[in-house]
Amino acid sequence: MRQKLVIGNWKLHGSLAANAALLDGIKAAPAPARARLAVCAPFPYLAQCQAVLSGTTIGWGAQDVSAETRGAFTGEVAAPMLAEFGCAYVLVGHSERRSYHGETDAIVAAKTLRALESGLTPVVCVGETLAQREAGETEAVVGRQLAAVLDALSIEQLGRIVLAYEPVWAIGTGKTATSEQAQAVHAYLRKQVVAHGEGFADVAARLQILYGGSVKPDNAAELFSMSDIDGGLIGGASLKAEDFLAIGNA
Ligand code: PEP
Repeated sequence: MRQKLVIGNWKLHGSLAANAALLDGIKAAPAPARARLAVCAPFPYLAQCQAVLSGTTIGWGAQDVSAETRGAFTGEVAAPMLAEFGCAYVLVGHSERRSYHGETDAIVAAKTLRALESGLTPVVCVGETLAQREAGETEAVVGRQLAAVLDALSIEQLGRIVLAYEPVWAIGTGKTATSEQAQAVHAYLRKQVVAHGEGFADVAARLQILYGGSVKPDNAAELFSMSDIDGGLIGGASLKAEDFLAIGNA
């Protein structure tokens, strides 16, 4: 039985005061009985997350990590730095990084490796655009994005990642994939992991695959009831403690 996981992606939102109110609100409520919660904050707020959330069951992490570990890479933040701030998770290959920052599948694979080397859990995001879905290319696109990561990892490393299916057309648009559409892609992703080689069936069965794309309190329960959907990656709705908790309790 895979544990459910609900991760908030704050994106480019927050301030010390707003985060304090949000984190206090999440922390004050009883922890969801059947899901682990985590928040992925902008880099400058990781110390605040560490201070407020240490000793709770709520995890925290970053939204990106450098493919490099150290050196002349101005503006980059390396995985060992995230580890120093107690991060458990880091998002890798979010569609906004892929499209606005030119992150290729190879860069996403390298970032995944850097995260694993520092003991972080990379949350590897894959997803198709609306044009790709309408052209019948969903499986080819997410399959290619997944394959780049599978090819770079050992079976042991694969056992330490989380996957997130986030259809680009559903992110921040208010359009959610139906639970059947999402389940079909999740099942396909799990099947691709099984097919990657001998011995991958066990790791595929344990792999947590989150759904992201306009998840809200009123659609979370149905999405999370699908057999291959192991929780959610939540953008907009993670900025309100009440909504984020309602999703965690769904
Ligand atoms: C996201 O940013 O990963 C996301 C899913 O955003 P939203 O929930 O706002 O669609």
